[in-house]
Amino acid sequence: MPTRAQLSQVDEEQLLATIDRWLEKDIRPVVKTFDHEDAYPAAIVAQMKELGLFGATIAQEFGGLGLPATTYAKLVMRIASVWMAITGIFNSHLMLALAIEKFGTKRQQQAWLPRLASGDVRGGLALTEPDAGTDLQGIRMTARRDGGDYVINGTKTWISNGIEGSCFAILVKTDPNAQPRHKGMSLFIAPKQKGFRVGRKLEKLGYNCIDSAELILQDYRIPADHLIGEVEGKGFYQATGGLELGRINVAARGVGMAEGALRLATEYAQLRRTFGKPICEHQAIQLKLGEMVTRAQAARLLTLAAAEAFDRGERCDLEAGTAKFFSSEAALENSTEALRIHGAYGYSKEYDIERFYRDAPLTCIGEGTNEMQRIIIAKQWIKRNPVS
Ligand SMILES: Cc1cc2nc3c(=O)[nH]c(=O)nc-3n(C[C@H](O)[C@H](O)[C@H](O)COP(=O)(O)OP(=O)(O)OC[C@H]3O[C@@H](n4cnc5c(N)ncnc54)[C@H](O)[C@@H]3O)c2cc1C
Repeated sequence: MPTRAQLSQVDEEQLLATIDRWLEKDIRPVVKTFDHEDAYPAAIVAQMKELGLFGATIAQEFGGLGLPATTYAKLVMRIASVWMAITGIFNSHLMLALAIEKFGTKRQQQAWLPRLASGDVRGGLALTEPDAGTDLQGIRMTARRDGGDYVINGTKTWISNGIEGSCFAILVKTDPNAQPRHKGMSLFIAPKQKGFRVGRKLEKLGYNCIDSAELILQDYRIPADHLIGEVEGKGFYQATGGLELGRINVAARGVGMAEGALRLATEYAQLRRTFGKPICEHQAIQLKLGEMVTRAQAARLLTLAAAEAFDRGERCDLEAGTAKFFSSEAALENSTEALRIHGAYGYSKEYDIERFYRDAPLTCIGEGTNEMQRIIIAKQWIKRNPVS
């Protein structure tokens, strides 16, 4: 794994200050309206393009910002502390870019990465199917070689940016009978064109505004040079090869949400008075706040430790796994506790905390459910600590 150069402290502070200004001026005032209307935030996406977010982790030689994972994680934390859903618009897109940058041929990198970095082409990663999520090797979408082309058939579901995006990395079976199953899997760069249609927009509990959709491919024909790396049978490895950075990114979303919920609870607990004093002076509320502060701080430390290991070029599946697991649970618990601290107003759509409460569970599902995460952590842990 290559190492990633750190930004100077000044450069990093400048970048994060720009993000903070954008969040306060253009995002915080409109988030509630957008979220309740569940409308695609096209004007905000245009600003994200200007800020370079669609190229955040793409190397500078391809027109991206080439950010190290540590700076990227801090950036995601800040945005998620205000509105987590919009981080999905560029994070899922960057998973597509990562697959091409890490496993694509030189020609594929040059053809796609500059357009992805600028945000002119936007998309995501399409792995999940109606009958296969955690068990990815059980997918049914197939690609059949036909002369110089492949013909793809099947359905993907829950694909982020599915409606607004124009290009996806799509996981398929090129040999449905292969054993072990992963040896028959391949990953394709699939732009929207004839044979590729959006099934339906999926209605969700939260994570509004970002489009989650079914993608249906029917006799979808693409040239063979769209096979990532131009070698069949590597798709499972390529699709999961971005998981470390993917998990650091979800962990960072969790940190942002845990901190954002804490901030809302901290303000409210000082303003709301019962029995003649602010509720933050009641011990029951102090116990909640004490746990929330600890969870938010621990989540931040775990996530930055994973990002630092990633930037040093170390294998960090255990670190990314613990960070993702802990931070997403911290997001969920802090959102729930903050909602309770708000009393009835936590249940009101007039306050922001109800959005955190609806959005947080997604962080426990995406990039590997937390059930699987614990199993992966345990397996890695045993591997690293063999009895001699
Ligand atoms: C808002 C949203 C956005 C998404 N975006 C994308 C996207 O952009 N691209 C994409 O490809 N997918 C996306 N997904 C799909 C997501 O990755 C899957 O939902 C996830 O992988 C879980 O798969 P599943 O829903 O099929 O659950 P299942 O695999 O059916 O699992 C159901 C339950 O069983 C548990 N479980 C399953 N197997 C085991 C096991 N072996 N041991 C222990 N527990 C197990 C799971 O943890 C879970 O609790 C998105 C999902 C959501 C909700």
